[in-house]
Amino acid sequence: MEANITISQLPGIGQYYSYKLKRLAIETLEDLIYHFPFRYDDFTKVETIRNLTPGEKTSVQGIVWEIRNIRTRGGRFITRATVADESGTIEVIWFNQPYLTKTVKAGTPISLSGKIEIVGRRCKMLSPSYEILRSSDPARSHAVLGETLHTGRLVPVYPETEGVTSKWLRAKIAKYLKEYTRNNIDFLPEEIKKRQDLIDLGSALVKIHFPKDLEDIKFAKKRLSFDELFTVQFIAHQRKLAWQKQKKAPVMQIDKVKVTKFIKNLPFRLTGAQTRATREILADLREETPANRLLEGDVGSGKTIVAATAAYVSLLNGYDVLIAAPTEILAFQHQKTLSGIFAPVGIGVGIWTGSKKQDSNITCGTHALLSSFKPKRKVGFVVVDEQHRFGVAQRAKLFLDTSGELTPHLLTMTATPIPRTLALTLYGDLALSVLDEMPQGRQKIATFVVPNRKRDDAYKFIEKQVRVGHQAFIITPFVEPSETMSTVKAATVEFANLKNHFSPNIKLGLLHGRLKSRDKEKIMESFKKNAVNILVTTPVVEVGIDVPNAVVMMIESAERFGLAQLHQLRGRVGRGKHKSYCLLFTDSAAQNSLRRLKSMEKVHVGFELAEIDLKMRGPGEIFGLSQSGFTQLKIADISDEVLISKAQNEAKNLAQEDPDLKKYPNLAQKIKTRQLDFVQPN
Ligand code: ADP
Ligand code: MG
Repeated sequence: MEANITISQLPGIGQYYSYKLKRLAIETLEDLIYHFPFRYDDFTKVETIRNLTPGEKTSVQGIVWEIRNIRTRGGRFITRATVADESGTIEVIWFNQPYLTKTVKAGTPISLSGKIEIVGRRCKMLSPSYEILRSSDPARSHAVLGETLHTGRLVPVYPETEGVTSKWLRAKIAKYLKEYTRNNIDFLPEEIKKRQDLIDLGSALVKIHFPKDLEDIKFAKKRLSFDELFTVQFIAHQRKLAWQKQKKAPVMQIDKVKVTKFIKNLPFRLTGAQTRATREILADLREETPANRLLEGDVGSGKTIVAATAAYVSLLNGYDVLIAAPTEILAFQHQKTLSGIFAPVGIGVGIWTGSKKQDSNITCGTHALLSSFKPKRKVGFVVVDEQHRFGVAQRAKLFLDTSGELTPHLLTMTATPIPRTLALTLYGDLALSVLDEMPQGRQKIATFVVPNRKRDDAYKFIEKQVRVGHQAFIITPFVEPSETMSTVKAATVEFANLKNHFSPNIKLGLLHGRLKSRDKEKIMESFKKNAVNILVTTPVVEVGIDVPNAVVMMIESAERFGLAQLHQLRGRVGRGKHKSYCLLFTDSAAQNSLRRLKSMEKVHVGFELAEIDLKMRGPGEIFGLSQSGFTQLKIADISDEVLISKAQNEAKNLAQEDPDLKKYPNLAQKIKTRQLDFVQPN
């Protein structure tokens, strides 16, 4: 059976389930097999009925003596069974599962796992997990997985979705695991496995789902984590080698006098971190290897000026500059900011988007830069802002097509606080500069997770702020990465509702990704001028917006965001001198979810929030949705620096030795499929 066979083609799954499984990102057989448990219930202890201890979680195996449904006075069903082993009998009760008597009959050998409770004076099991034993003789157990799947063992518990339970997943995974592992799927070179003491892939997959003991889990995790780290890093190294082999970049001179004057002209002094990052990037520009650097800095840390200084150097050397932004609004904003910065040196800044085309030696733009833009001179320097929203293929085109025989230097910027280990893992091919210092005088934004019952108070509070001349953002429900019609509708409906909560003389504006760019621009302009007091928006469009008069950021359905994302949204306020606020609303009552959001109240550093999310929800959540290569790391522990560096060494060596993987066709295949769904930020 092919690993990438569509899930709906598997017997016993069908359209209904494949639709539901999509929500768990399971679309192929391989996705199903790589849907790993997030924990295991320990029901390994199978106890004889005589020796049961009340309060303990345990398993019992025996024969059903008697089973029947009883109807309660309330019209509900109770299923009552007596189960016996050689030591005694126990009563078992299930609620509202009358269909049980169809499969579980007197004489059926059964395995039960659950908590032993005292009811009356006797031990009972209430609503235990159950499973019919294939043979009455537990000794004749299943060769590989163990005889039971749901009881009497370490029971895997999976991420679930409505209509798809762990029990269902367990059964299907058990069924198809054999099919999947039958083929020779192990792609890792034998020497690496030996050197790193890794078990083979087939057994790792069996052990991760159906471990016999904790040791099994440990070995399986090690192997599967290594796979992830190794392939991700191999791709990074492959890319780095390809990059270095490319045509040369323009070697630039640094005119110290002019650059110093440029920086002196700014209305502020650079922070130490900005100075350091600027130096690193300027050093890149003097090399003939094209720079490929990631500039990471919290919202408001001042990345723009660092990029602008490097852009200035490129312009002084006679090379054009492109600044790519993920949205039109951001492109316009960059144009405006940079126009201000470059005005003193007499350089005009162009704009190139779907709706407005006006080129210059330094041009800000969107994806439109990829399709229709023709530079005036050779492009020497390209900046990509909020890099993770660009796909890799697009970015490749951005620097290759515009360059002629020279490859421009490339700087990507992100406000996403990627922990260093993670950055090194995923972007091993990038040089990294970090702005870990904020400009002085930045205030903490008072943040509150607000219960729904205080919603009206929140609106009143916003109205009060508007009355004294301030402004607010309200972020409405959304779907990333692209806004669908239904999202737009949600935002539109929400907008209509919201208006009722404010006095008629307060102006609300609605901004979403589906608006025509001219309308977007208009609304942004009105908001900047405070003709619109409250901007209701979906989050897609507003990354990076700079409106110092805005002091309240209210976010609906906050639980849907990664903490780092929330932090970025929060960074839209507190940009001026006024005290600013972030109000988080959530529909989720889950304790975990609330605890996670509450950390926004105390923590005000993007990196720390990213670390919290990393621990609580895994790397995929740092970016929010599956937009990033982060989804490639499902099981690897990103704080395991030892394994990361081992995988890195192996990947590096192999990429040097056999970059096209001629000796390892299985691995080559694996890498290829990985690369396809790898939307990487460089
Ligand atoms: P981001 O890193 O989020 O892109 P920006 O480059 O937009 O941040 O900078 C945020 C704001 O801080 C801008 O208004 C900018 O002019 C200002 N700024 C940048 N650097 C400094 C500094 N060293 N001191 C004071 N203000 C600064
Ligand atoms: Mg920015």
